[in-house]
Amino acid sequence: MEKIMPNRMDRGFRMYQREFEEKALEVLRSGWYVLGREVSAFEEEFAAFLGAEACVGLASGLDALWIAFRLLEIGPGDEVLVQGNTYIASVMGITMNGATPVFVEPDSHFGMDPERLKEKLTPRTRAVLVTHLYGMASRMEEIAAFCKKHGLRLVEDCAQSHGARFQGKMTGTFGDVGCFSFYPSKNLGAFGDAGAVTVHEESLAAKFRIFRNYGSEKRYHNQVVGANSRLDELQAGLLRVRLSHLDDLTAERRRIAEKYSRELSNPLVSLPVPAPGAESVWHQYVIRCEARERLIPFLEENGIGTLIHYPIPPHLAECYRALGHREGSLPVTEHLARTVLSLPIYNGMTEEEQGRVIEAVNRFR
Ligand SMILES: *Cc1c(COP(=O)(O)O)cnc(C)c1O
Repeated sequence: MEKIMPNRMDRGFRMYQREFEEKALEVLRSGWYVLGREVSAFEEEFAAFLGAEACVGLASGLDALWIAFRLLEIGPGDEVLVQGNTYIASVMGITMNGATPVFVEPDSHFGMDPERLKEKLTPRTRAVLVTHLYGMASRMEEIAAFCKKHGLRLVEDCAQSHGARFQGKMTGTFGDVGCFSFYPSKNLGAFGDAGAVTVHEESLAAKFRIFRNYGSEKRYHNQVVGANSRLDELQAGLLRVRLSHLDDLTAERRRIAEKYSRELSNPLVSLPVPAPGAESVWHQYVIRCEARERLIPFLEENGIGTLIHYPIPPHLAECYRALGHREGSLPVTEHLARTVLSLPIYNGMTEEEQGRVIEAVNRFR
C-alpha cells in the first residue's frame, strides 16, 4: 500500500493541471517576467477576495513580516507581543528590525490569548503580532480592542490562514498589515516562493510598492534603502489560477477536518477546536497526544507520515539563545511543542486515505 504523506502538493497541481499549464505558457511567452500585469491582477483579486483596501505582492512570507515592521517603524528598543507557539519566521520578522519579541502563551485554540496580553505590556510595547496558526483565526475582536486601547500596531501573520474568518471578517483585514506567504505547501500555494501584504490604507500600500523594488518608484530614483522583494509574473499568474478555486479548495479541507473530528475517537488523543466565532481553513489538522513519541512510530509502521508544527518553540531556538529564555519559561507553549501532531490533510486526499489514518489513530493504545 502506498504511504500516506503529510502533504501531497502534486495532487493540488493535478486538480487544475490544464489551467496551470496554460497560464505558465502564457506568461513564458509574454516576454515580461517580474512585476507586471499578472502581479497587478493578482493583487487586485486577492484584495477583493479578502475585503482589503489593497494588496502588495512580495517575494515571501518572511519578507512580508520584516518589511511590515520596518515600514511601521518598529525597531531597536521596541517590544512586540507575539504568541510563543508560532513559526520561527514570525519572530524573525521582528528581530530582523532589531526589535524585541515578547512571548505570550497561546489560548486553548492555539491562538493569541487576549487575556494574557496585558500581563506582558510594558512602556516599550509597540505592536502585537498575531499568528492565525493552523488556519484558525485568533480572537480578533478582543485583540484589536486591546491594541486600540493601548495605541499599539496590530500585525497579522496569515501565512496559514488564507480565507479564514473571525466573526465573518477575513484574517488579514483586522490590523495595520496582514502578512501572507504563498509557499507551495500553504493553502493558497505558488510553485516557488511568494508572499504579499494587505493593508487598509493606500498610502501604506505605496510604501510597500516602493520598498520592494530597491526603494524606487521611478527607475534610478531611490527614495529609501529598500529590498529586492518582488513577486514574479509566473507565480502571480499561477496564484490567480489557484485563487479562483480557493473557495472549493477550502470547502474540501473543511470536509476532511469535519470527518476527522467526527470519527477520531481515541481517548489518548485531543482534537483541535477553533475559537468561538472562528472559521478555520484547516491548514493543518493538529491533534495533541501525551504519548506522541509512541504514536509517531505506530502511525509510521501503518504507512502514515505525520509532521510536528513545531517541535522547538522559537524562544528555545538556538538562534534566540541571547534572549535569555530557558526551558520552563513558557510552560503552555513548551507542552504544546511536546504533544502536538499534524495528521495528513491536503487537497485531493481520498476517502480511502483518510479512512486509513482514522482507523490507525483509533487503534493506537
Ligand atoms: C510559512 C510561514 C511563514 C513564512 O513564509 P515564507 O513564505 O516561507 O517566508 C511565516 N509565518 C508562518 C506562520 C508560516 O507558516
